[in-house]
Amino acid sequence: MANSVRRFGQYEVIILRDGLFEASADVLIHADGDVARQRAVEVLGKPTFQVDVNCFALRDADGIILVDAGTGTAWGPKYGHARSALHDAGITPGQIQRILLTHIHGDHALGLFDGDDPYFPNAEIYVPERDFAFFTDPAAREAMPEARRGGFKVAAQLQQIYGSRIRRIGEGQVFAGIEARTLPGHTPGHAGYLVRSDDPADAANNALLIWGDTVHLAGLQASDPKIGLAFDVDPATAVRTRQATLEDAAREGWVVAGGHISGFCRVQKTSEGYQIVQA
Ligand SMILES: [Zn+2]
Repeated sequence: MANSVRRFGQYEVIILRDGLFEASADVLIHADGDVARQRAVEVLGKPTFQVDVNCFALRDADGIILVDAGTGTAWGPKYGHARSALHDAGITPGQIQRILLTHIHGDHALGLFDGDDPYFPNAEIYVPERDFAFFTDPAAREAMPEARRGGFKVAAQLQQIYGSRIRRIGEGQVFAGIEARTLPGHTPGHAGYLVRSDDPADAANNALLIWGDTVHLAGLQASDPKIGLAFDVDPATAVRTRQATLEDAAREGWVVAGGHISGFCRVQKTSEGYQIVQA
């Protein structure tokens, strides 16, 4: 856990590990079709894979901001450890007044709920507006296969439990030193948050992009950004976003962290693609 706290701009950023998600290699997809997909499965070299489920606490003099909220108790005892990680950091749920969501999927938002009550009784929830619009649209829900409607259920719970405390956000500055960036594809309004100092000299060499689910598998998807997961709502857009974001992060020298990659990382360009290395 040595690599789980760092300072960016005015914030101390704490990675809160919620659990470890295991999935079958069957969920891998590839923009170039079946042969390329089969090759990706061979490179993976195992029938299942595991990735972190992370959320983040950003602490400054004004309080605590969360980016995503983990799974709470919804996914059982193997998950939900973000809550104990918050406790270990000396943070109580009642202290948190601002929560930013990268997107409305269960592993990022179910931790907002305590049954039918808010787990964070004093928090406002900042949601990318396009994600909110999509996951509250009955027609979009109907068009989605039954097994993939989890986000719609989460959005309904969010409305029911947080109601008037939901804030819809677009691109640009959300709070001092935090900029929302639209990274669409995984979900229609999927967003990342760029955390950096207002001082250009500091910002240039010490910026953090919390990129949500832009990359799930750090090794595979950096070397071949055309590899996606079946959970991507719009796989083609997710590929373009992944390529552009890896390029931006490599060029700008940003530190990156996310919902499913481990620790604080950097992106390096290679002859064939990119690699994600610990920062
Ligand atoms: Zn996720």
